[in-house]
Amino acid sequence: MRIGVLALQGDFREHLAVLERLGVGGIEVRTPAELATVDGLVVPGGESTTIGRLATTWGLAAPLRERITAGMPTLGTCAGLIYLAAGTTGPDQPQLGVLDVVVARNAFGRQVDSFETELEVAGFDRPFHAVFIRAPLIEKVGADVEVLATVERPEGRRPVFVRQGHVLGASFHPELTDDDRIHRLLVDAVEGS
Ligand code: GLN
Repeated sequence: MRIGVLALQGDFREHLAVLERLGVGGIEVRTPAELATVDGLVVPGGESTTIGRLATTWGLAAPLRERITAGMPTLGTCAGLIYLAAGTTGPDQPQLGVLDVVVARNAFGRQVDSFETELEVAGFDRPFHAVFIRAPLIEKVGADVEVLATVERPEGRRPVFVRQGHVLGASFHPELTDDDRIHRLLVDAVEGS
């Protein structure tokens, strides 16, 4: 099994370290040729506009869309979730549109730019310690999207972890803790695909 990590910008090294811990070969993906060699993909956190622009420049946007649409298991975290999504509540930016959600970027405001919380995640037997860093919130989910975790906001509960078939999206950074359960979901999806 070969799992790639999109390595254009952001914290891809941390994801590679988690995959290593799980005994899965993590591969840096920067070109369409590298993308063609992987069975699953992580799109890391960072700056979603930068990741999107670089992917377009490197000729990766179309092949990424194609592979993911064709069923390649994919996990997007934070900026990676934004890049996978169908839209944002703000100005247009490059997005793949492979996950049927609309996100609000930097949705937690300046006061609580970054925070950590214990998340109840559907299917997990104990909470997941989630690190949010200038994180997006998921504002709209399509009919095929399963909500796996939410946070309480003044405006009501909002999704922060979703799944649409083989595509997983998290607002937070599972690569920054030593809890590998979210990466395991990706590995399981690759094993089952
Ligand atoms: N604020 C970033 C964005 O909107 C995401 C932050 C992150 O990935 N930690 O692209």
